[in-house]
Amino acid sequence: METGNRLRSRAQSPTQFGFRQPAQRLGAGRLPYARAMGVTYIDGAWVDDEHATVSVRSRALNYGLGCFGGIRGYLADDGKEVFVFRLDAHVKRLADSCRVLYLRLPGDIRQVSDIIIELLRRNDVRHDVYIRPLALHNSTKLAPVLDEESSSFVAFCMPLKRYIDKDAIDVCISSWRRVADNAMPTRTKPTGAYLNSALARRDAADNGFDEAILLTEDGKVSEGSAEHVFIVRDGVLYSPPSTEDNLDGITRRTLITLAGEDLGLRFEERTIGRSELYVSDELFLCGTGAQVTPVRSVDRRLVGDGAIGPITRRIQQQFDDVVHGRVAHRRDWLTPVWG
Ligand code: PMP
Repeated sequence: METGNRLRSRAQSPTQFGFRQPAQRLGAGRLPYARAMGVTYIDGAWVDDEHATVSVRSRALNYGLGCFGGIRGYLADDGKEVFVFRLDAHVKRLADSCRVLYLRLPGDIRQVSDIIIELLRRNDVRHDVYIRPLALHNSTKLAPVLDEESSSFVAFCMPLKRYIDKDAIDVCISSWRRVADNAMPTRTKPTGAYLNSALARRDAADNGFDEAILLTEDGKVSEGSAEHVFIVRDGVLYSPPSTEDNLDGITRRTLITLAGEDLGLRFEERTIGRSELYVSDELFLCGTGAQVTPVRSVDRRLVGDGAIGPITRRIQQQFDDVVHGRVAHRRDWLTPVWG
């Protein structure tokens, strides 16, 4: 069992990067929930979670000005090592997002990656884990202004098994359109854009669906609330390009590589129309959270015969093997936390 003392000593131990030590920000008495939550990085300091806070005046909160990443680490089969999946690609996308949104990170890709690995070590992570790096416009002044000088950077983590807790899901086409790249740079994972995702999710849930697929303003398939879309028709995989107002997806890119190089499947990147979803043989969503999630029905029309299709199963299995370190030639996608 975790003890308050153990947590405190982890939070205060010297960092390999020599950041200032936030002793004054570590509360004297430990609250029970703090023990469960752990250590968070904020602007050069390692603090107990309850001290990683921003002002109610923060522009990040008032206007949704920021961007973030979502990264997973998987417990290896030996039960000891944790592999962070495609850390470089995730941090690179975050850095690109920050460039577009006038945010500053606390270092280059290597340094930010090091912070993330140190976060996992300080939290003594030996389980499947989700990591959230978050860059914020943290000025408390009025007006929605993008100003590098007021950047804050936060990273926290939490245990995560499944993000979607079902083997196959029922989805709808959302009545909400995906926010357009010309309105908000959708490839950057901006915090504010998740109002769009949240509205679609709420609408789907209220109507008895597990998830929603959003269309672009032009009526083409864009993505799920936090997942990309793949369909299979006549043995060929298709997925819409990121120019269809979706995030520049790392799981999507991974699956395209695995399909072509490891599984010998045909893949084509092209726009997908709404009604193609209804007549596809197989359909699945993918993402860091969702991994590979088969879709059973769209707008209450069964996909294929409603069972998980053979191509979906193969991709799911290969992805699972890769993230757990069972595929030797894909080990360079994995960063070991403890090794
Ligand atoms: N679209 C959106 C809007 C997302 O938030 C996510 C989750 N990051 C995805 C797609 C999946 O992208 P990735 O595979 O990079 O996690």
